[in-house]
Amino acid sequence: MSARLLRRRYRQDNYLYLLAEGEDAALVDPGDPGKALALCREAGVRPRAIVHTHGHADHSGGSDEVKAALGVPVLGHGADAGWYRPDEDLAGRGQLALGALRIRLHHVPGHTPGSLLLQWGGALLTGDTLFWGGCGNCRHGGDPAALARSFLGTIAALDGALQVHPGHDYAAQNLPFALALEPGNEAARRRLEEVQAARAAGSEPPASTLAGERAANPFLRVEALGEALASRGLVTAGPEAAFVALRALRDRS
Ligand SMILES: [Zn+2]
Repeated sequence: MSARLLRRRYRQDNYLYLLAEGEDAALVDPGDPGKALALCREAGVRPRAIVHTHGHADHSGGSDEVKAALGVPVLGHGADAGWYRPDEDLAGRGQLALGALRIRLHHVPGHTPGSLLLQWGGALLTGDTLFWGGCGNCRHGGDPAALARSFLGTIAALDGALQVHPGHDYAAQNLPFALALEPGNEAARRRLEEVQAARAAGSEPPASTLAGERAANPFLRVEALGEALASRGLVTAGPEAAFVALRALRDRS
């Protein structure tokens, strides 16, 4: 049977995901239990587990209800146990096997201490670490320097062909900030037009690719943004400092 990745919007801009390899499936960040369970019914699968990209309540707060309904374990990184307690701690794990469903795990501390990227086939589920056109803030238990190292290390090493599936759709807010920094960035302009066209048509934006993000997303472009940051009076001695300065600038914008 075929592999399927299904995405559903909830609240204003959150996304939950269902990954299915034949009859083996996982729910990722089912923050709206009703929508998550309806998606499973529509897809005709019974997930083997709930997997969290990170602990924040808008992603993990529905899991007790989903767990009670399906009788499945909650999996996540134990460093986020301040927000929820996983039944299985994924700390130190590089891969998760749920029957035929095999998910690669990348620990990317920064937005939270236990943030994970989930890589499955050609898809990369990025939670609140990497967004379309931006990155997660560090206001709720995060650490901008750690986030910088995750971007400059782990994320920089990943395949550009991966499709980026984030935990929120903030593209329409993030890309104008990208264009303010780089007014001539055609990739950012085209991506903003693409997401605005989807919104105008009442449909969901298509996933971007990591290569597309590297062309459009300022948090993956800090080494190209030296002048734009310096002209705003930001001290950027090296890429980690530039990333932290950029995160602080976005927080003030
Ligand atoms: Zn979050």
